[in-house]
Amino acid sequence: MKYISTRGGITPIDFKDAIMMGLATDGGLILPETIPLLDTTQLEAWRNLPYRDLAFRVISLFCDDIPAEDLKDLIDRSYDSFDHEEITPIVSKGEINILELFHGPTLAFKDVALQFLGNLFEYLLKERKQKMNIVGATSGDTGSAAIYGVRGKENIAIFILHPDGKTSPVQALQMTTVLDANVHNIAAKGTFDDCQNIVKALFNDLPFKEKHALGAVNSINWARVLAQVVYYFYAYFRVTKNLDQQVVFSVPTGNFGDIFAGYVAKRMGLPISKLLLATNENNILTRFILDGDYSLDTVVPTLSPSMDIQVASNFERYLYFLYNENPQRVCAAFEEFSKTGCMKFSNEERSIVLSDFLSQSVNRQETLDTISSFHQQTGYLLDPHTAVGVKAAQDHLSCGLPLICLATAHPAKFEEAVITATGLPPERPASLAGIEKLPSRCEVLDADLTVIKEFIERLAL
Ligand SMILES: *Cc1c(COP(=O)(O)O)cnc(C)c1O
Repeated sequence: MKYISTRGGITPIDFKDAIMMGLATDGGLILPETIPLLDTTQLEAWRNLPYRDLAFRVISLFCDDIPAEDLKDLIDRSYDSFDHEEITPIVSKGEINILELFHGPTLAFKDVALQFLGNLFEYLLKERKQKMNIVGATSGDTGSAAIYGVRGKENIAIFILHPDGKTSPVQALQMTTVLDANVHNIAAKGTFDDCQNIVKALFNDLPFKEKHALGAVNSINWARVLAQVVYYFYAYFRVTKNLDQQVVFSVPTGNFGDIFAGYVAKRMGLPISKLLLATNENNILTRFILDGDYSLDTVVPTLSPSMDIQVASNFERYLYFLYNENPQRVCAAFEEFSKTGCMKFSNEERSIVLSDFLSQSVNRQETLDTISSFHQQTGYLLDPHTAVGVKAAQDHLSCGLPLICLATAHPAKFEEAVITATGLPPERPASLAGIEKLPSRCEVLDADLTVIKEFIERLAL
């Protein structure tokens, strides 16, 4: 399997090189040259596979340059850290099927991909006799999942900046209580934007980037998307009896990463009728799907902070397919977007989009009401991100198809929102019990490029 860039500016490369490249060197995103289409016999043969075996089958289709035993071992180890034997179990509540993606070490779906990416990086760095210093900024979920993905691994160090005092207390503790020597938490005295700007400046400083082999873990790495494709298959097989059954997946979306994985599964032949893209008040993607209007707005803070995004980094991967795999058109669209802050779509394109996606934007009050009413009716507690997807699904019950809602975080990660909705704190799972009393390590630094640079310089591998 060869990989290309959405902007057409790289010669095709193998899987391993695609993973190490991260963002394509021409500024585009990396995609497989073709997405394999499975026939019904192949699909049916996967129905009863346990999660790890299914993951091996799916990932093998896209990766032919790692020996099978090595790949199997990487995958198996990645999911040993999950606390449920099914890895991503389905819990059915009436007409709503909840796909629980939060059984990894940091209680959010990002673990599914980052546990795998961490192992993959370690494997590839060892083979290439290289080191990597991962640098990233986080407002919460990505940072802890990335830290857990690479803690204690060889030839990798990680530096994660978070805004001091501005993440949820649980989220900060999940990061700072990891004491492995290769993990460096920086609480910057500033905002999340300050953190992000510093990280951008570090990556733009090419001599610094080269010297310290800086690496990223943001959602643009193809391995993250690929690992997420697996649970669409797994969930489909749990809620259906045969391949005649179409389903709808409801996906709470920020960066378009998770839902793009669903789109890949659909293109591979999984009988997904529609992908229901659920957004909070930051609804640029809903406007794109329903009105053909992809135009920039300002980010507003919501109860589902991991979806507080305007420019969705993985959207470009979908555009590539919408534009019939024509990289010139992708380049032109982004040129236009950087000039005007907006992209326009023809009626023909809009009808293609509507043949793949449904969408709904869910506001703060609806999110709180959904957490509260779902809890009253079913006894099941939703986190605010999952609630956005469940509300959208409830409003689409008339489609008459099984609805599968991706549960992207455990409610205990977002205690405040849950208390506001139900008046009660969610029960904490074992990994969070007493986390406030654990020893922690974190450097509080000024949100200043020179200061942060010195710190990384001193501790980088
Ligand atoms: C990251 C995240 C999302 C959004 O996922 P995307 O891949 O960015 O669309 C939703 N919910 C939670 C809890 C997250 O951490």
